[in-house]
Amino acid sequence: MNQSVFTSAQSLVRENEEVIVNDNHWVIQAEDLTKVYKMGEVEVHALRGVSFQIAKGEVVAIMGPSGSGKSTLMNIIGCLDQPTEGEYLLDGEQVSNLKDDQLASIRNRKVGFVFQSFNLLPRATALSNVEMPIRYAGVRQNLRERALQSLELVGLGDRIDHRPNELSGGQQQRVAIARALVNDPALILADEPTGNLDTQAGDEIMHLLLTLNKEKGTTLVIVTHDPEIAEQTRRIIHLRDGLIENHA
Ligand code: ADP
Ligand code: MG
Repeated sequence: MNQSVFTSAQSLVRENEEVIVNDNHWVIQAEDLTKVYKMGEVEVHALRGVSFQIAKGEVVAIMGPSGSGKSTLMNIIGCLDQPTEGEYLLDGEQVSNLKDDQLASIRNRKVGFVFQSFNLLPRATALSNVEMPIRYAGVRQNLRERALQSLELVGLGDRIDHRPNELSGGQQQRVAIARALVNDPALILADEPTGNLDTQAGDEIMHLLLTLNKEKGTTLVIVTHDPEIAEQTRRIIHLRDGLIENHA
C-alpha cells in the first residue's frame, strides 16, 4: 500500500491513540466499494463509494440510520457478499473477485460473527456450538480442547454442557463470542451484539469484547445504533445514504 493510504488511515484515529504502522498492518482495506441491488427494473444503490482502512487491533463502530447501508457493508467485509465494484482486501488477501466457495473459505478462516439474536443451534450444547466453526474449517485436531479453551476465555467453562435455552441471554451471547473466537479470526464482526440484552448483560458483553481486544488484540468491528456502545470504541464510521459521512 502506498504512503497516502497510511497517512489517511492514521489521521482517522483519534488523537492520543497510538497506532503502529507497518506493511502488514491492515485487517481491512476497502477502496471505493459500491453495491447495487437490482430489483427488476429498479436499482438500489446501497453503497455509493466507500473507502476506509482498519488496522490490526482496532475497535471500530459502524453507525448510521436505518437503510444507510450498514448491513450491506457488514456483509461485504464479512465475506458474505461481494461488492458490485471496488476493491476489498481482508487481512491482506484480495476478496473482491473470489468465487463463492473461495469466499466461504476465507470467511471461515478469517471472520468470527456475533449477531444480535445469538444464532446458536438450539439443540446443541455450548461446547458443540463452539466446535462448529472448527468443523467447517475442516480441522479435526484438538477440536474439543480448542472449543473448551474458547468457552473458558469467555467465562463459561462451567456451562459447556448447557443448551441455549438453559442459559441466560448474556450467557448465550458469550457462547456466540466463544464460537466467533475459536478459529482465531483476523476480525470479529458484531452486528448489534447487545441489541437483545438488558442493560446490565449488554454492558457485560461490551466489557468482554473490549477485554478480548485488549488482551488478545482481536480486531473488532461493531455495528450499532446505540451511541453509548459506539462511545466505547476508539473510532466511529458514520454511514448515510451509502456514503461515509465522517470519521470521528
Ligand atoms: P441498514 O443495515 O443500514 O439498515 P441496508 O444495508 O440493510 O441498511 O440497506 C441499504 C439499502 O439497500 C436500503 O435501501 C435497502 O432497502 C437496500 N437493500 C438492502 N438489501 C437489499 C437486497 N437484498 N435487495 C434489494 N435492496 C436491498
Ligand atoms: Mg441493517
